[in-house]
Amino acid sequence: MSAHQNTKAYAQSLDSNDHLAMYRELFHIPCDDKGNELLYLCGNSLGLQPKTTRAAIDQELRDWEKMGVEGHFHAKNPWMPYHEFLTKAMADVVGANPIEVVVMNTLSVNLHLMMVSFYRPTSDRYKILIESDAFPSDKYAVQSQAAFHGYDPADAIIELSPRTGETCLRHEDIQKIIEDRGQEIALIMIGNSNYYTGQAFDMKSITAWGHAQGAVVGFDCAHGAGNLDLQLHDSGADFAVWCSYKYINSGPGSLGGVFVHERHAYDQTIPKFTGWWGHNKSTRFKMRDGFEPIPGVESWQLSNPPILSMAAIYASLKIFQEAGISNLRKKSIAITDYLIYLIDQLNNEAIHIITPRNSSERGSQISIQVKDANKSLFQKITDKGIIADWREPDVIRVSLAPLYTRYEDVHRFVEILGQV
Ligand SMILES: *Cc1c(COP(=O)(O)O)cnc(C)c1O
Repeated sequence: MSAHQNTKAYAQSLDSNDHLAMYRELFHIPCDDKGNELLYLCGNSLGLQPKTTRAAIDQELRDWEKMGVEGHFHAKNPWMPYHEFLTKAMADVVGANPIEVVVMNTLSVNLHLMMVSFYRPTSDRYKILIESDAFPSDKYAVQSQAAFHGYDPADAIIELSPRTGETCLRHEDIQKIIEDRGQEIALIMIGNSNYYTGQAFDMKSITAWGHAQGAVVGFDCAHGAGNLDLQLHDSGADFAVWCSYKYINSGPGSLGGVFVHERHAYDQTIPKFTGWWGHNKSTRFKMRDGFEPIPGVESWQLSNPPILSMAAIYASLKIFQEAGISNLRKKSIAITDYLIYLIDQLNNEAIHIITPRNSSERGSQISIQVKDANKSLFQKITDKGIIADWREPDVIRVSLAPLYTRYEDVHRFVEILGQV
């Protein structure tokens, strides 16, 4: 029996007891034409703008205006080492050591750079294991890597599919396929959590199963970073990639993050594509021959990075540092539990949650399947001021990003869902 109640007053009482409630004040909440706040449930697609972002970007614009090139060394936040200002905070968000984390490029680019280094197929071990409903960009990336090495993607890619009649994967099935076919698998590359079902995977177990078979294990944490308490270092994964514009609220197309486990930090035998930003910082500008890598994941950097994008990430990460990912995760579990309770209260045969109910297997996103629905149902929800996400053929994805979603919003959303 749940102790929850299906009333607006009760939802408001949860908000007044929420230690993170004041963080909503730090964000711009989108409004309709009349200035009414919209109900924003799309933080898994594009996180909202912190009110501090504009000033952070302005600071860099002003320093560029006043100093030109001198800003590389004399800006308030010097541009030369700018990415280093983000490292510790980003490492805390994903549960890693600073030597394991760098902010650079964008997700799909980073995934390719990681596969250049960590997908090293041989004639008897060349396969890549991925979920059948992985995010399309990830599938294109693994297929093109296999083809680049001369393999037929149809043969080289092993897809993990749910059992017939099920939408989520079972860990026991993942384990079985790794144990049965592990000797053929060069790389396991799984999205954590799944962008469609919202299912989160146990990275530590998957990594252990993969490593026991001699496979390399990497994760796409686009939907996990800033959402789950990932503990990347302890997971033992070889690498991970993510973006900062979803739960990390750093603006459209902002830079991504990369994790490479510390055990690879000083290994100069790992092949990689290199550029000047990965070279020893003290001799970088001497422009001599011979690449001297910075220890750790920074050696994968190619170019000097876009500071305006990094300024937005800097502003956003300060909020995460204050709130703490483990506190955010606690609220995320509580608020998604409340959403599940309210949807159950609707008692509607047509509405079915496809995200796992067990909180250890999900983050802030709940995917709701509406039988026989079409996009007109979603349009009605949108017309009522809700910003969520529709996935063909019949799934509404909502994300209750704990920094700015209120229990009252959840109550209102389910009320509207029931009405339409
Ligand atoms: C959002 C997302 C991407 C986006 O990739 P970009 O390179 O940032 O455009 C890739 N993979 C997954 C799993 C995602 O959720």
